[in-house]
Amino acid sequence: MEDYYEILGVPPDASEEEIKKAFWRLAKKYHPDSPTGDAEKFKKINEAYQVLSDKRKRAMYDQQRRFGFSPGTIGTDFFDSFFEDFSTLGLDEIFENLFGFKKKPQKEKGGNINVELYLTLKEAAFGTEKTINIERFVICPDCQGTGAKEGKYKICTKCNGSGKIKEVKSFIFGSLTQITTCPICEGSGKIPETYCPKCQGRGIVKKITPLKLQIPPGVEEESIVKFIGEGDAGPKGAPPGDLLIRIKLKKDDIFEKVGRDLKTKVKVNILKIWFGGEIEIPTLEGSTIKYKIDPETSISNPIIIKNYGFPTKSGRGDLLVYLEPQFPKIPKDLKKLLEEFKNQ
Ligand SMILES: [Zn+2]
Ligand SMILES: [Zn+2]
Repeated sequence: MEDYYEILGVPPDASEEEIKKAFWRLAKKYHPDSPTGDAEKFKKINEAYQVLSDKRKRAMYDQQRRFGFSPGTIGTDFFDSFFEDFSTLGLDEIFENLFGFKKKPQKEKGGNINVELYLTLKEAAFGTEKTINIERFVICPDCQGTGAKEGKYKICTKCNGSGKIKEVKSFIFGSLTQITTCPICEGSGKIPETYCPKCQGRGIVKKITPLKLQIPPGVEEESIVKFIGEGDAGPKGAPPGDLLIRIKLKKDDIFEKVGRDLKTKVKVNILKIWFGGEIEIPTLEGSTIKYKIDPETSISNPIIIKNYGFPTKSGRGDLLVYLEPQFPKIPKDLKKLLEEFKNQ
C-alpha cells in the first residue's frame, strides 16, 4: 500500500487546500504531455489525489494507514470497494486544467506530394514561375469535405455523442479512468447518416489540378522547394500535406555550373590573343559583356569575371571564361612568311 501523503509530499494533517496545491504542482510537472513528464509518477500522484481529496475516502484511508498496511491483514476487497470509482478525472481533462487549453485530437494530415521539376540554369539562378499539373487529393465537391451525404448526421454510436471514450485501467488498489477522443467520430460526437458516395466518406477525392509555382532564385540541383499546404487535402477537414519540388537542372549549352561559379568558352581569333583586342562574353542573364584582352594573353588560365556566376544565398559566384583560339584564313604569301617562325 502506497503512502499517499508521501507521494504528494504533504503532512498527514494537510488541509484540503494544501493537498490540492501539492497535486496541481506535481501533476503539472509529471503530466505525460509536459517536458518533465513521467507517466508512472503521474498515475501515482493522480491516484493519491483521488483518495486524499475525497473526505470519505480519506477518512477510510487514514484509518487503514494507522493500522498499518502489511499485506494480508486487510483484504484487498476492502480497498477495491472504495477505490472502485476513485478516478473520474481523465488525462485529457487534467491536461485542460493544467495547460488551459484543449488538446487537439491528432488528425491524419493530408499526404505530401513529391514532384521533380526541370529548370534551365537561368531559371534556377533567377527564379521563375511555373504552372504544373499535379494529381492530388482535393476537398470533395459533393460533401464539401464533410464525408456526409447531403450534410446529414446522426449521433455516433461508439461514444453516444460525447466524442469521448472512457478507458478504465486497473491496477492493484484501484483503477484509473482515462478519457480519450472517440476514434470513430474524432471527438465530434456525430457521424454521417449516409457516407458521401463520391468520396466514400473520406471528404477528399483525387483530381488533376494545375498549380502555379513561384520558384525562388538560386535553387540548386537536387534541392527541395517546399510549398506548405499544397499537397493532398486532409481527410475530414484535417490539414493538407505539403508539395515538395525536387529541382533538376537541364544541361546548358553555354555554361557549366561548378559550385557557385560558371564556366564558359569563348572562341577568339588567334590574332586578338596575340595583339590584344575586344571580345564579347555571354552572361547567364542572356546579355553580353565587352571585354578587352591584353596582347599575348595566356589561354591556359581563364579570365575571371567577378560576380557573374551563379547566385546563391551566400553571394554570387564568378564567371570563368576560357579562350578558344580560332585560326583565320590567311593569304598564301603571308602563310609562307609565317612559316619561318614555326620553329621558334
Ligand atoms: Zn464527399
Ligand atoms: Zn464517437
